[in-house]
Amino acid sequence: MSKLDSKIPEGPIKDKWTNHKNNINVVNPANKRLIDVIVVGSGLAGGAASASLAELGYNVKCFCFQDSPRRAHSIAAQGGINAAKNYQNGGDSVYRLFYDTVKGGDYRAREANVYRLAEVSANIIDQCVAQGVPFAREYGGLLDNRSFGGVLVSRTFYAKGQTGQQLLLGAYSAMSRQINKGKIKMYNRHEMLELVVVDGKARGIIARNLVTGELERHSAHAVVLASGGYGNVFYLSTNAMGSNVTAAWRAHKKGAYFANPCYTQIHPTCIPRSGDYQSKLTLMSESLRNDGRIWVPKNKEDVEAIRAGKKKPTDLSEEERDYYLERRYPAFGNLVPRDVASRAAKERCDAGFGVNETGEAVYLDFASAIMRYGQEKANVLHLENPTKEKIRELGEKVIESKYGNLFQMYEKITDDNPYKTPMMIYPAVHYTMGGLWVDYNLMTTVPGCFAAGEANFSDHGANRLGASALMQGLADGYFVLPYTIGDFLANDIRTGPIPNDSPEFMEAEKETKQRLEALVNNKGTKSVDHFHKRLGKVMWDKVGMARNEAGLKEAMAEIKQIREEFYRDVFVPGGVNELNSELEKATRVADFLELGELFAKDALERTESCGGHFREESQTPEGEALRDDKNFAFTSAWEWTGDPSKANLNKEDLTFNDIELKQRSYK
Ligand SMILES: Cc1cc2nc3c(=O)[nH]c(=O)nc-3n(C[C@H](O)[C@H](O)[C@H](O)COP(=O)(O)OP(=O)(O)OC[C@H]3O[C@@H](n4cnc5c(N)ncnc54)[C@H](O)[C@@H]3O)c2cc1C
Repeated sequence: MSKLDSKIPEGPIKDKWTNHKNNINVVNPANKRLIDVIVVGSGLAGGAASASLAELGYNVKCFCFQDSPRRAHSIAAQGGINAAKNYQNGGDSVYRLFYDTVKGGDYRAREANVYRLAEVSANIIDQCVAQGVPFAREYGGLLDNRSFGGVLVSRTFYAKGQTGQQLLLGAYSAMSRQINKGKIKMYNRHEMLELVVVDGKARGIIARNLVTGELERHSAHAVVLASGGYGNVFYLSTNAMGSNVTAAWRAHKKGAYFANPCYTQIHPTCIPRSGDYQSKLTLMSESLRNDGRIWVPKNKEDVEAIRAGKKKPTDLSEEERDYYLERRYPAFGNLVPRDVASRAAKERCDAGFGVNETGEAVYLDFASAIMRYGQEKANVLHLENPTKEKIRELGEKVIESKYGNLFQMYEKITDDNPYKTPMMIYPAVHYTMGGLWVDYNLMTTVPGCFAAGEANFSDHGANRLGASALMQGLADGYFVLPYTIGDFLANDIRTGPIPNDSPEFMEAEKETKQRLEALVNNKGTKSVDHFHKRLGKVMWDKVGMARNEAGLKEAMAEIKQIREEFYRDVFVPGGVNELNSELEKATRVADFLELGELFAKDALERTESCGGHFREESQTPEGEALRDDKNFAFTSAWEWTGDPSKANLNKEDLTFNDIELKQRSYK
């Protein structure tokens, strides 16, 4: 049997998940008590999985490197979570959510998984409401919805600009109940540094206690990796500073195939970079594109005047502005998918219309929405002939109630008041669609090793639609894994506890120790950040928003070179057996330096453009991504062979039974 058996169930797409659940193995409740599961990650995917598996009766050990599960990167999610509830009566359905997601991913996602995701989306909202998640509500009490990019309906549920935080508190409450009962043992401030494979099955991990530095061997019958995305390979991204690829990469080196590493999402609405010493970028949620209009000046003279501080954006009349998304994509306007919006911003800035000093910024303007909402409010209040100022004041209040915390965040960072002057935004690395290859059960190519949430590749193809990462993480954790993991674990009811002192565990621990010691004993001259920044620059310049053959070849060679220098010259202060945040960074950057090269290789081999992967050689005359379905309708699943540049390519052919492949258009 090929290792790439995706286990897609037979039958019509709408019945696949039901049939699958009816046919897979189930572990009875009493036997679940005999089975241990390790979950690496306590974000929405890992938190939901830990809580659900423990609730079912499994003994869960959950690991996170933060000081509390509540600090997982999922807390940062702002804009919302999708679900096909059709509360707005706008024509939404499970099929439409499925269709939008497959099309949004530029037809590079696995159809069966996406349908399942759409199918369980409504349950997620019910579950979270039952947990007490305070979703925004309309006057009548129903949950409110807003629109996100790439769709023509309103299906995004939200809690102001803090949706991730509220959902995570829900998952954390569910976990806490089980921690209290002793069914989840929580290992905060522990970092998984190795996967342990025994007799071909994932049976545990080596984790470092980040407070004491001690290495620990943890065994289980299965390991779930819910360790998030790897956008920080670019150094600068909107991800939390700690987000990294180590858990997934270690599994990859132990046999788990890595799928589509080059599919990265560059989010169009981030605060532009301000200089060379920045270590973090900030997202302005896509929800802002519901009401913000994106533009640059039509004339270069105005661009120059704005850059020189001689004109303000508010001085320009409507005729002097180019609302380029509305012009190019009249049907979707400012709500085109992220990849399309990002490339359009880059195109305008490359053409010399960028509005800040670096030439890398466009405007996101709320003036029309403020006046529109203000007028509406004035009507509701029956104000006769309100002044413009009054309308603006009322409109600003409406905008504040929708996006207040985002506006405040923007003002704190830039010192500009976005109620009075347009925001400046520019694309930044935000999400990684690629990740560990998994089958329909979310199992990797290492039996017993599962991957959930952003860590797997499964649902978003070459571009993720907004508000669908939270949906996927919670779907995986609350509604998919609890069923599918049983299919594997049913064979383990008589296995008994897995010993953690077998030769495989001892060897993995020894190797990990040696890796850590080599880093601190290296005593080179350059900091870990020095190498990470260099890697990030190569990634952004040559493997970023636009890629070409020559640049990708250079990137592979340069990354290899940086990696070699890293091992020759990195300086990691402190010791192994203590709290050492530089050592933590060093192990993560070491893995990024391998991933980066595979990432570039993947982008090099895929000579088509699709979604977030834009090959300059493959574009339409209008500059849109041009797919090549004849040659590239497959998922690339890379097998580790000891050197990222020599990784072995396995292909999972994508079959589209329910959706016709078309060149994607949002016009
Ligand atoms: C600023 C921002 C805003 C966003 N807004 C939205 C939004 O509005 N809607 C939406 O759908 N999506 C949004 N996203 C995307 C979404 O937040 C993430 O994709 C999602 O939260 C990832 O969840 P996760 O559970 O897979 O991983 P994470 O939340 O990243 O959690 C990873 C967990 O794994 C642990 N971990 C990782 N490696 C190790 C290791 N080696 N050892 C031990 N533990 C480890 C971490 O400690 C953490 O607990 C946003 C992303 C960003 C950056």
